[in-house]
Amino acid sequence: MANLFQDVLFDELKTRALVEQYGSPLLLLDCEKLADQYRQLSTALPGVGLYYAVKAFPHSAIVNTLNQLGARFDIASTGEINLLRKQKVNPRNTIHTHPIKKDKDIKDALRFGCSTFVVDNHAEISKFRKYAHRVGLLLRVAFRSPDCAVDLSRKFGCSPEEVPSLLKAANELGLHVKGLSFHVGSQSTSPGTHVAAIEACSRLIEEYEVPIRILDIGGGFPVDYDHGNDIDIYTFCAPIRAALAKLPEHVEVIAEPGRFLIAPAAASITTVAGKAMRGDQPWYYLDDGVYGMFSGRIYDHARYPLHVFRTGPTRPSALVGPTCDSIDVIEEALELPELEVGDLVVGRMMGAYTAATASTFNSLPIPRIVVFGEPAPR
Ligand code: PLP
Repeated sequence: MANLFQDVLFDELKTRALVEQYGSPLLLLDCEKLADQYRQLSTALPGVGLYYAVKAFPHSAIVNTLNQLGARFDIASTGEINLLRKQKVNPRNTIHTHPIKKDKDIKDALRFGCSTFVVDNHAEISKFRKYAHRVGLLLRVAFRSPDCAVDLSRKFGCSPEEVPSLLKAANELGLHVKGLSFHVGSQSTSPGTHVAAIEACSRLIEEYEVPIRILDIGGGFPVDYDHGNDIDIYTFCAPIRAALAKLPEHVEVIAEPGRFLIAPAAASITTVAGKAMRGDQPWYYLDDGVYGMFSGRIYDHARYPLHVFRTGPTRPSALVGPTCDSIDVIEEALELPELEVGDLVVGRMMGAYTAATASTFNSLPIPRIVVFGEPAPR
């Protein structure tokens, strides 16, 4: 098969052919690229069990592709469990990583067969008392990372100082804390935050008299939104590999990557539906925007690499979405040649936290997702 993103989406005729066949707007999902990302990260983190963070893009073709590659899955809701169940994922290959759960969430996960849960506070630990014989817990520790695009330790994770008392509380309830976990924040700018967190967890593991078997190093592995190129993840992970090599031998390491696996495996096609001069900028109204697959522009603080097929002198221009809300602006002051109604705009790195957070505001449908290269179900 042609390389979707290199051979097709930089070729106007081929891109137009896709629109003629499937309509516009479109989100194209390339499962071969997804498999390639999975292999790259597996090589960069040898011996680390990779649990795909389903929340990044919960889609059956993604689950099927990764399942066939031997990946495992990080789930955070009953909806995600239902998706995995349909794809016949072995529940033993899943962990439930939401630090705050209702009893029904725990029951649903246990009924599915998932028995590893993340906790980060006393109230959450108490919820597991009645399931003590059936569960193993991971205690999530917070390491703030203000440099990350999304600092996830603001909302979740106990402080390293709280770890001993939480471990003690779990122990007193007869609960088995089998590991520590952290998430340094999404789209990490450097491996230094992972390294510091691994070293801090290593110290905690060594201090605790009951053996802690698992260290879950979360997600945060970045992609190149500036240029849409593949990031050299092997080099990025070199300091992380070095830090992991110093862990006590009995510690099994796992990770929960979302963005790195799926962001480069999807691309968008939108069409210019209208144009107007607003102030001194041309505004181009696309048939999808921040309420649709560009929702990550708001929630994920992401800026996607975009290209058009016209050439010629450029000027700062705005690309905006189709809804009636003025927040629906994808880019302002983007250097573009003059576009015409009917022109296509292609976005890359569109797989993570895009369709996952899209809405149907204005009763506009979520863009159609077209899947390429999915392996036949087993
Ligand atoms: N695990 C948890 C608990 C998360 O909250 C997230 C993202 O929000 C991920 C994993 C995936 O992180 P990333 O997409 O940065 O790899």
